[in-house]
Amino acid sequence: MWAINHSLAVLGWDTETHMPEAGARPRGIASGQLAVMVQRATIELDGLVGKAEKAKDLDDTERGVVRVLRRSLDYFLKVPPKLVDEIQRVTTEATVVWRTARKKSDFKLFRPHLDKIIQLERKVADKLGYEKHPYNALLNLFEEGFTVRDADAVYSRLIPESKKILAKVASAGVYPSKHPLESKKYETAAMERVNEGVLEMLKMPKEKFRMDVSTHPFTTGIARDDVRITTRYEGVNFKATLFATIHESGHAIYHLGIDKKLAYAPTGDGASYGIHESQSRFWENVVGRSREFVGLVDPLLRKNLPFLSGYDDEQLYYYFNTVRKSFIRVEADELTYNFHTALRYEVEKKAIAGEAKVAELPELWNDTFEEYLGMRPKNDAEGVLQDVHWSGGSFGYFATYTLGNVVLGMIWHKMRDGELVRGAVGRGDLMELRGWLGREIHQYGATYAPKDLQMRVFGEAYNPERLLKYLNTKFVG
Ligand code: MG
Repeated sequence: MWAINHSLAVLGWDTETHMPEAGARPRGIASGQLAVMVQRATIELDGLVGKAEKAKDLDDTERGVVRVLRRSLDYFLKVPPKLVDEIQRVTTEATVVWRTARKKSDFKLFRPHLDKIIQLERKVADKLGYEKHPYNALLNLFEEGFTVRDADAVYSRLIPESKKILAKVASAGVYPSKHPLESKKYETAAMERVNEGVLEMLKMPKEKFRMDVSTHPFTTGIARDDVRITTRYEGVNFKATLFATIHESGHAIYHLGIDKKLAYAPTGDGASYGIHESQSRFWENVVGRSREFVGLVDPLLRKNLPFLSGYDDEQLYYYFNTVRKSFIRVEADELTYNFHTALRYEVEKKAIAGEAKVAELPELWNDTFEEYLGMRPKNDAEGVLQDVHWSGGSFGYFATYTLGNVVLGMIWHKMRDGELVRGAVGRGDLMELRGWLGREIHQYGATYAPKDLQMRVFGEAYNPERLLKYLNTKFVG
């Protein structure tokens, strides 16, 4: 199973980075066949896993392996292959239609496809089984043990408090909503040198790591000692490629820190989407957007980007930290990001429960956006149609972005309200932070379920108060 998954990872990486366009069809066939092989191999383990679950003398590492296998088994045994195939077929077509619908900003084109996808997702939830809310079954696919109750608890604190912080930031006028550096053009070769320099600062090991270019930056752990990231160059607004590189490096550092003994085990991956995202966002936001990091990266930036001569480090810091309400999630900053995921969470929850009809989703989207951020999308393209996720059948994913932020807050708090970060980054000793994260989180891989891991490290799970304190400290002071 490890070998097949390894092969799938290499194929997936190649698809996004080097494959010529016409390779898509054979690649789809090969990947599909391999996915079926993983499914068969997993199902064969049912009896063994059942036996192992009854064993009394397992240690934590072994129990982790059994738990992770049971999670895959659960999915493959409960969701019939016919349903998986149908979802595959419907979403492949829906993704094509979604692209056109977004271009034309016309939700009606996408509506029948989305309607079908929601029905299928609801079927998956019914097959998997759930307590209280069908959406719980889908949330659990992305974040083990995470429920509507947990999400409601997180957002009911984050949303009203973030509104307050945002209002204070707006009235103080210290953090700008726009910065002239956002429209400065750069040479790709110059930013390639900067990104390479940043990878050196992060001590990314050359023999186990590489970086390529793709349309959407991503990280893939092909093996414990073969981790790859991508970034992208748009030729303008250099912070976008800089922070994409740091973000993906954060994911890569997680992979590289997993204990050797888990290298070929089912637990040799991150604990969950939320925990993974906490690592990328910790490096991107807590480290990368700090004053200390500006000081650290300053010589590298000035050497390669001559247009920076008119801007001091304080200016750079504010360029890295513009705060602006935007309709588009991927353009959102640290302060406004969680509104975007909260909105999607609310819309998905109601759609899956059948409390909102598909035809009503654009209105529901726009009403909720207005309630959160006080402005209303003018069309479907900047509203309900902006993300690819639904066309691919990903329901229950968006909340994990915010869980990444929430856990990042807990890490910041545990690092003595950021004192450890300021010290280490100030001294240029980023290995100290890698060491801390490695000891507390990375080494275990998926040995512990995300809530259990958090209880071990922090003595609490998904506590939004830490993130709020981090945001208040940084943006309000
Ligand atoms: Mg990420």
